[in-house]
Amino acid sequence: MRQSLAREFNNLIERSRDRQLRLAVTGLSRAGKTAFLTSLVHQLRHAGVEARLDLLPAAREGRLLGAQRVAQQDLGVPRFPYDQAIASLDQQPPHWPEPTRGISELRLHIRYRPENNGLFGSLGSDTATLTLDLFDYPGEWLLDLPLLEHDFFSWSQRQQATLSPQRRELAADWLATVERLDPAAPADEAELAEIAGRYADSLQAARNAGFSDLQPGRFLLPGDLDGAPVLQFFPLPGLEDADRQHLESLPDESIYRTLAKRFAYYQQHVVKPFYREHFRRFDRQIVLVDVLGALNAGPERFEDLSRALATLMRSFDYGKRSLLSRLFSPRIDRLAIAATKADHVTPEQHTHLVTLLEALLAEPIKDLRFADVPVKALSLASIRATQAHEVEHQGKRTPALRGVTLDGEETLVFPGEVPTRLPRPDFWARQGFAFTAFRPLSRETRGGGLPHIRMDAALDWLIGDKLQ
Ligand code: GDP
Repeated sequence: MRQSLAREFNNLIERSRDRQLRLAVTGLSRAGKTAFLTSLVHQLRHAGVEARLDLLPAAREGRLLGAQRVAQQDLGVPRFPYDQAIASLDQQPPHWPEPTRGISELRLHIRYRPENNGLFGSLGSDTATLTLDLFDYPGEWLLDLPLLEHDFFSWSQRQQATLSPQRRELAADWLATVERLDPAAPADEAELAEIAGRYADSLQAARNAGFSDLQPGRFLLPGDLDGAPVLQFFPLPGLEDADRQHLESLPDESIYRTLAKRFAYYQQHVVKPFYREHFRRFDRQIVLVDVLGALNAGPERFEDLSRALATLMRSFDYGKRSLLSRLFSPRIDRLAIAATKADHVTPEQHTHLVTLLEALLAEPIKDLRFADVPVKALSLASIRATQAHEVEHQGKRTPALRGVTLDGEETLVFPGEVPTRLPRPDFWARQGFAFTAFRPLSRETRGGGLPHIRMDAALDWLIGDKLQ
């Protein structure tokens, strides 16, 4: 009895103590990070009133009292522009929020009533506060982790190997200048800056064409480093193993040595600090993946997304000998992987979408489970823009979606079936997949809340245990 009394007492103290959790959101560009974070904050702020969060027990049981934004701790990180995001959604006609381009942060105080299941339950009027620090950062930055395994020479060779015929085409302008360069010649600052600009443009063109496996990540999303000399380097094509010694003995001012120095600087002063100062301190993480967008873009992009995700997920490889563990000893204790924009397919396709996501990430998920990091795959729509319907077609009832296109046209579509396995190339020729971009629902249609699909399930996995 005394023991259980002591335990109850400890519980009570624990509950009354404020708790803190650092939750990070990432994903490649356009995966849906901005929409997710906007919705997450909105749902928590409107919990118990307009927000429907039945899959989050604290909300379902009426114990979630609400959330308030408070001043964040780290003044060096930009604040997530929540008000602007809501203002865009409230416009007439509504707009998707402008995506964030670097790291941003927002701190919430979540007030809740802990569960009453103990001896001191009768004191049940007590409330507790969870301090939730939310971080949003580009998944592209994680593509840089493997860059730490290389020196400039081996990195150049690696980049050369990833240039597929289509990527070579998109990089033609850069290749034409860089191939004329003599690595032994003295470096000319302006010339290097110009060629680096062309390299960055080629990465951007590849990104726009739907490719994701691109390095260095900061060239695509420079954040506050835009225009800084640390971003003025590029790989040198055509390096043969036999050249290494000669190149490394070139004078300091040579093009080769200048590029190699900038590469090393980028590793030490850009890639590593992000892992050391931010990434290592996250408690929980959600990785968002636009599976449907890639499915829509065809086989080459889908394959590329799969490669990019394999690289990105190395930042969650906690194996003892992994690059990450050796360098940074991170401590994320729970991970969610979510296929976003699920409102682009009819509801009966949602389980397919999760199965496909799991197939896409089969290896990293296995490694995470082996390292005993709880991981959950789910599908969600942060801001649902469509309504599910059934239509009669040739005497059969078929599921369909109703929505408004970005041009303002009302449509009724059946986007197609999501394959449950990694699609073979003939999938696109045989059945394909039609993906329409929709406008968010207007304020009149949606009311005070932000409609979503399974945001509450994601919230339960990510913070539910802290609201017990
Ligand atoms: P970010 O670059 O990762 O921050 O991506 P955003 O959050 O800006 O999302 C990119 C685009 O995807 C948005 O502009 C929307 O067009 C679309 N999108 C994001 N989330 C949803 C969603 O839940 N439903 C629908 N229909 N579209 C979404």
